[in-house]
Amino acid sequence: MTKPNLLNIILCVEFGVIKMLQLDVARLKRSPGDSESYELAAEMPPLIFSGEEFTFAGPVKASVVAENKDKVITAEGKVCGELILRCSRCLKPFNYDFEIVLDEKYVSPKEAGEADLPTFAGEFIDITPEVINSICLVLPMKAVCRDDCAGLCPECGCNLNESSCQCVLEDIDSRLSILKELLEKNDK
Ligand SMILES: [Zn+2]
Ligand SMILES: [Zn+2]
Repeated sequence: MTKPNLLNIILCVEFGVIKMLQLDVARLKRSPGDSESYELAAEMPPLIFSGEEFTFAGPVKASVVAENKDKVITAEGKVCGELILRCSRCLKPFNYDFEIVLDEKYVSPKEAGEADLPTFAGEFIDITPEVINSICLVLPMKAVCRDDCAGLCPECGCNLNESSCQCVLEDIDSRLSILKELLEKNDK
C-alpha cells in the first residue's frame, strides 16, 4: 500500500558533500508487494554536459513512488527544477524550467544476475545518475530565452530586444544607393 503524505525531504549539505536524490528503502526492501511515496528536494552541483556547465537555479524536486515487486524496486514519478541556460540568440542567461519523467528499476547486487539494471546497496537508492541523464536528454540544442528573441545585431552587437540600432537601415540605404547607381548607368 502507498503510504499517503509520507514526506522524506532530503535537503542538506554535509561537509561540502551534497546529498543528492536518494530514496530511503530500508523498510520497503524488506516488504515485497509494498510501495512508498517520496517527496525529495536536493541542491545539485552544476551539470556538465558536452563540455558546458549548467547551474541549477534552485533545488531539484522529485515526486517518486517506489514499489517492491518481483525482487525489483521500481521508481516512478516526476522530477522538476530550473536550470540557468544561455540564450543562443542574445547570449543572455535565462531560467529554463524542466520536468522529466522517472521510470526506473533497481535491483540489489544479489539479484542483479542477468538483468542489466542499476543496482543499489544498503538502505538507499540514489536516483541522481538517472535524473541527470534524463535532464541532459531534455536540454535544448539551441536554447532561446523566448520564442521571439530578436538576438544581437550582427553589425554592432547590440541586443535587439533592448534597443534598436541604425545598422539595418544603413544596410538598406547602401543597397538602395547601389541600385541607384546601376539605374543611373543604364540611363546613360
Ligand atoms: Zn535571447
Ligand atoms: Zn546594429
